[in-house]
Amino acid sequence: MRAFRLTGPGTARLDEVATPVPGPGQVRLDVLAAGVCRSDLAVLERVEALGYPLPFTFGHEICGRVAAVGPGVPEFAPGDEVVVHAPVGCGRCDRCARGETNYCDDGHESGATGFGLGLDGGMADAVVVDAARLVPSAGLEPAHAAVLADAGLTSYHAVAGSLSRLAGEDAVAVVIGVGGLGHVAVSILRARTRATVVAVDIREPALELARTLGADRTATLGSGAGEVRAATGGRGADVVFDFAAAQSTADLAPSLLRKGGDLVIVGSGGGVVPVTKPGSLPAGSRVRLPFWGSRDELAEVVALAREGLLPVRTEEFGLAAAPEVFDRLRAGEIVGRAVLTPVR
Ligand SMILES: [Zn+2]
Ligand SMILES: [Zn+2]
Repeated sequence: MRAFRLTGPGTARLDEVATPVPGPGQVRLDVLAAGVCRSDLAVLERVEALGYPLPFTFGHEICGRVAAVGPGVPEFAPGDEVVVHAPVGCGRCDRCARGETNYCDDGHESGATGFGLGLDGGMADAVVVDAARLVPSAGLEPAHAAVLADAGLTSYHAVAGSLSRLAGEDAVAVVIGVGGLGHVAVSILRARTRATVVAVDIREPALELARTLGADRTATLGSGAGEVRAATGGRGADVVFDFAAAQSTADLAPSLLRKGGDLVIVGSGGGVVPVTKPGSLPAGSRVRLPFWGSRDELAEVVALAREGLLPVRTEEFGLAAAPEVFDRLRAGEIVGRAVLTPVR
């Protein structure tokens, strides 16, 4: 079968590999859709620092159809469509038992953080995963379902942790970076809160997408501070979600926040926010660094999508286009989420 693999630092290619066989408690999925994430680009460039075992197949946003079932998996049968909760932990601790593998202290023995992040993922014709990580997705478009596994789940988990700050009648939330994750966050804020949503990006097509998904106001990076002041009567936003977290957005984000607000750093752009008292963060601020989300939260995200409350923008490509799609994502040419569709 074909697999888009990271074979060495900075080197990825489409390879021919053996079709994997599911062991006890596992299934093999024919991959219907695999999302392409900015973190795939970061992994490609920084895999040595991350310590992932090489080579492995990219793809941590996976929707597939069960093709083969290993021993001891009564709950799934060939033909079932599912999404994969991809973060992996030690598999033995309380958090792993609760499906909170994203916050396992010990981590996976291999050094991997997930399927497609050290372990073979979904940018292939097939992938083998543990049945315990599957959430049924029947009825959802596979490309839509795949995007829920990271862009959906990470945004949902990020918003869920700051819902208490967004409960007020006049709450204002700012989404900086309306990319693969940020555009889903706009939908999740619409679905779960009554907050006024201000979207900030440097790309006009991204702001157009944010308006389509229900953002109340949009602004460029340069006009972001003025727009948030206008939306809040000068007070500042209750929660600022930074999905880029580059230095330029890290510099802006604290200035958008009101007292007692949350700065939620979701992106991994490496921008530095000085946390000092006094400093640029208003009194009472909380800084949160959410990472991915739990298996139960993925089930909640899938349920929201089934209700039609999570529209996402996807652009579909064949598996063979993976190298080109990585280049286009790097160049900022993808609006919404790029999804590879190996088996359709
Ligand atoms: Zn990702
Ligand atoms: Zn664990």
